[in-house]
Amino acid sequence: MAQLSDDCFAHGGRLMSTAEALALLAEKTATVTTPLRRPLGEALGCILAEDILAGHDLPPADNSAVDGYAVYYDDLEAEAETRLPIAGRITAGHPPEAPLARGRAARIFTGAQMPPGPDTVMMQEDCREEDGTVIIRPGIKPGANRRLRGEDFKSGDLVLAKGSRLRAQDLGQAAAAGRRELLVYRPLRVALFSTGDELREPGSGLDPGAIYDSNRFALLGLLKGLGCEVRDLGILKDRPAVVEAALAEAEAGHDLIVTSGGVSVGEEDHVKRAVEALGHLHLWRLAIKPGRPIAFGQVGRVPFVGLPGNPVAVMVTFMNVVRPMILRLMGATEVSPRRFSVRTGFHHRKKKDRREWLRVRLEADGEGGWVAQKFPREGAGILSSMVESDGLVELPEDLTDLAPGTSVDFLPFSEVS
Ligand code: AMP
Ligand code: MG
Repeated sequence: MAQLSDDCFAHGGRLMSTAEALALLAEKTATVTTPLRRPLGEALGCILAEDILAGHDLPPADNSAVDGYAVYYDDLEAEAETRLPIAGRITAGHPPEAPLARGRAARIFTGAQMPPGPDTVMMQEDCREEDGTVIIRPGIKPGANRRLRGEDFKSGDLVLAKGSRLRAQDLGQAAAAGRRELLVYRPLRVALFSTGDELREPGSGLDPGAIYDSNRFALLGLLKGLGCEVRDLGILKDRPAVVEAALAEAEAGHDLIVTSGGVSVGEEDHVKRAVEALGHLHLWRLAIKPGRPIAFGQVGRVPFVGLPGNPVAVMVTFMNVVRPMILRLMGATEVSPRRFSVRTGFHHRKKKDRREWLRVRLEADGEGGWVAQKFPREGAGILSSMVESDGLVELPEDLTDLAPGTSVDFLPFSEVS
């Protein structure tokens, strides 16, 4: 079982870029969970640990796509109405045995197997029935309204690939291929902490200088959204011995340890030092905004992520940097979220050599496209900005001056949360 490798990464000096960090994390992370069998109904959001091959064709036989009449195309008049006597009635689940004679139509319903012979189905809306005869309007194409055997998938086709994250349609596909159970990766067991003397449990009293711990709940949502099994380990006080003991204890029984706060450069930032004492850091601090202090390493053999303290920085760094790493630990092959091109409706200046993510709302531009509007307050602590935004606009390192109307990459929150 591969884990984060033990190589030290020299930090200090120039801050690492996002691309370098993503590449380093990709190199150091591999699947850490083991496969297990799950009933199909409990596999939503899991990562598939096997390739699923079809054991049969779908549809298994040619069938009708509509309610109507199965006919031989060659029996139809090209320019005038055709009258055909109705011989037989075929419903779904009851395949016909005898072929249909030429010059006849069979009443047929959606999903019913085509009788041997006919190649085309007339929709009932385009026909009239009179005294056991169907009267058909001209103009249909040969083979119309007939679903062909194997047109969805064929026996032996790869219908779902190992490493995919199972969505509703994937569960449907597995069922269509005849699978009742799937081999999936066991959910990643994540230990989650907040750190900070100022933090209180929501619902408790707020004494002077205190705030409620919001990061743990936002992270709980992000991690659960990825299908992780999260163990909420509460708030750690800003005391080196407390932090170190808690992290050491979390090594057992978890595949990943996630903390927020305490990884910056202040004297009360004890998380980074605790990780160095218990294992080591692979990287610390990225050339990004928001969220410069962010630590990746390991506690013993268990991968560790130390997120910043500021609530916006926590979420933004999770979505852009941590999420791909977690998906890789979980066995997923597709780990990068899709970004979409939108236009800016604002002007923005930024520092060179760092990647920046802006919280934006989308507005329809009236021409079928979208314009991104920047949230007016930029602070990394303003959690309302996340609540009121639709996603993030990503600004590359070399950009310094962003004019209105520029095309930029937009990451919808719906892609990553
Ligand atoms: P730190 O990195 O620990 O210095 O924290 C940076 C900022 O984030 C400080 O203003 C903290 O109060 C705030 N912060 C840290 N952890 C949390 C949390 N769990 N919930 C809300 N705010 C936090
Ligand atoms: Mg702190």
